[in-house]
Amino acid sequence: MILYGSELAVKLQGQMKEKIDRLIEQGDRLPCLSVILVGDNPASQSYVRSKANACHKIGIENRTIHLPADIDQAELEKVIQAENENPKVDGILVQLPLPKGLDEKAALLAISPDKDVDGLHPANAGALVLDREGFVPCTPKGVMAILKEAGLDDLSGKRAVVMGRSNLVGKPVGLLLQKKNATVTTIHSRTAHAADICKEADILIAAIGKPEYVTKDFVKPGAVVIDVGINRVDGKLKGDVLFSDVEPIASVITPVPKGVGPMTVCMLLENTIEAWKKHEENK
Ligand code: NAD
Repeated sequence: MILYGSELAVKLQGQMKEKIDRLIEQGDRLPCLSVILVGDNPASQSYVRSKANACHKIGIENRTIHLPADIDQAELEKVIQAENENPKVDGILVQLPLPKGLDEKAALLAISPDKDVDGLHPANAGALVLDREGFVPCTPKGVMAILKEAGLDDLSGKRAVVMGRSNLVGKPVGLLLQKKNATVTTIHSRTAHAADICKEADILIAAIGKPEYVTKDFVKPGAVVIDVGINRVDGKLKGDVLFSDVEPIASVITPVPKGVGPMTVCMLLENTIEAWKKHEENK
């Protein structure tokens, strides 16, 4: 079965829109996402536009703050601080990568953890490790929503292999899979016999940034394969999985495009609504 994240995203966003329509009817304050874009990187601009469109479609308010590439760190952090203090703003996202010369770690640290809807502040990353309440990063959260849609909510007895150990994807996905009772192995660029390890997986998550690297030699027949990779090759988007090779033997597989990507934006909207709810409760 090919599982389209794009279809699941439409379904979940429809449910979110109903919630927001009710808020509009009642005249309540609406959730608001503030996106900070620094510089003119075309890929970042297009990501920011798609986030703004997604907010617009379901009725989440959106502020896009576009700052020049030559802004200094102190100025950038001042802007972030102003958004932290703005009572109308529920979620803040700093679009990465930042232009050269700016300190990404410090910028992420400047976001108030209760508005960190990307889940990249150390307080939220720590909350995930320690099983406390916090924002879960959007792409890993999207991967888990896809597994749930495939009927895989409790992963007791299942072997999961995560390819990649980044802070953005691999690490949090591994933790989330473990929370769902999977037995998790993480492999990375220095792992020996990677294909043999991957072949033991009931659930294989590819997040390595290597176009079409994962062939059927990495996949156990009947495995669930989630392709997180987004790689631009000759102007086309390619996943980390060689789809034509793996699809015939996988029980479930996500395509690229229309797979995990749309779920990332969808989970950003979900986190923004979650932030709004917490702010309303704590008013
Ligand atoms: P990254 O470059 O930070 O990390 C890549 C990881 O893969 C590293 O841990 C590295 O050790 C590992 N790796 C590299 N080669 C490997 C190999 N041959 N075998 C096993 N592991 C290997 O990348 P990232 O930010 O984690 O992103 C991974 C991919 O996911 C990229 O293609 C990125 O564009 C994509 N991505 C997609 C979304 C989405 O919304 N779908 C979001 C974030 C990232």
